[in-house]
Amino acid sequence: MSSLDSVFERVLKKVDENRDQIIELASQLVQIPSVTGQERDAQEFVKEKLAEMGLKVETFEPNLSELRGHPSFFETTSYKKFGYNNRPNVIGIWEEGGDGRTLILNGHIDVVPPGPEEEWRYDPWGGEISNGRIYGRGSGDMKAGIAAMIYAVRAVRELEIPINGRVLVESTIEEEDGGIGGALATLLKGYTGDFSINPEPSGLDFWIASAGVLYFKIRVKGRPAHAKEAHRGVNAIDKIWLIYNALKELNEERQKRIKFPLAEECEPYMKGHVTILNIGVISGGDWPSTVPAWAEINCRIGWPPGESVSDVERQILDKVREVSERDPWLKENPPEYSIIGWRAEPSMIDTSDPFVLKLSDLAFRVTGKRPRFCGGTAGLDTRFFINDFNIPSVGFGPIAHNIHGINESVELDSIVQVTKVIALAIVELLAG
Ligand SMILES: [Zn+2]
Repeated sequence: MSSLDSVFERVLKKVDENRDQIIELASQLVQIPSVTGQERDAQEFVKEKLAEMGLKVETFEPNLSELRGHPSFFETTSYKKFGYNNRPNVIGIWEEGGDGRTLILNGHIDVVPPGPEEEWRYDPWGGEISNGRIYGRGSGDMKAGIAAMIYAVRAVRELEIPINGRVLVESTIEEEDGGIGGALATLLKGYTGDFSINPEPSGLDFWIASAGVLYFKIRVKGRPAHAKEAHRGVNAIDKIWLIYNALKELNEERQKRIKFPLAEECEPYMKGHVTILNIGVISGGDWPSTVPAWAEINCRIGWPPGESVSDVERQILDKVREVSERDPWLKENPPEYSIIGWRAEPSMIDTSDPFVLKLSDLAFRVTGKRPRFCGGTAGLDTRFFINDFNIPSVGFGPIAHNIHGINESVELDSIVQVTKVIALAIVELLAG
């Protein structure tokens, strides 16, 4: 056995000894609701946990003026609703100096709302442990991952294994809403590094790609009139219907054309649907006896790496122009297009990067299974690391079920496995 092997064995044993505490921490985190915008209480708790371990802990609230102007910036919905006060990012720093490199462990503390609570079999904020799983909103996405990264650091520290370099343990806000005040703000504050692991619920595979995402709105106007003489007005709802159909057509064309084998192999049900234009909200008109003067649709389009935001935007605008040319009213009164939130470029890392290969070996060592390369259908914080800071970033986390759905859960054994892989990564990448 080499000396690194024997260190690895000690680390694995230590994580096994801490199994109950890891699970307990993940469950406690679920019990502190932290829906996007209301992250403070959970962040306070994480801060205490990091300080308890002897890490230097820094926190900061995002400052919009430092973010505006960055190419990836957009104003998030939760910023518009809550601002950034009382929404700290938390960074635990383990620094041993030397000329070593920096490993970033980044997780988002925010969760999406639980949805109809009466449909849950478990309390969404209960963190209940049963059938080898933890149940609750955020259990998989991604409080178990946060517990894993904290306990990975803890295991290596408890064993007093020397490291050369720095580990940043980050709990950031508003990933579910675009991550601008969270991961992006944290990188811009100067918390950068050489590689990052993001323990999102990847099911022990590697998420190596993040989708492009764009939220947009199209608004048309009509000409209002009393309903008794509706023929003298122009009904904006009739007009938005033309746009609706054109966008459906664009979606079908794109789905025929765009392939992304990575996502299709990991998630066979995504075949033919790696890009989706979802028309999520439609509204219009003011009163039943008035011909609608306005109507609009709000959409989200997601797509895998291969096209930029402006490529996709151009296709939407061309399509809208094409349909408007054929309609005299819309030709005279062109629909208005605007962005209403997420505007994210897709990202992907190089799978032959030595960091990725090393991490893959460690995952194989712990789980006995080679992680598959997956991703590219959801927008992730990893895109900031990859696109904006050139830091290879892998999503690697536990096996979760029903994330963002009813009865969300995460498998206990997989949390422990992720903790082990991250702990080994600290030792291997930052060997003293
Ligand atoms: Zn997540």
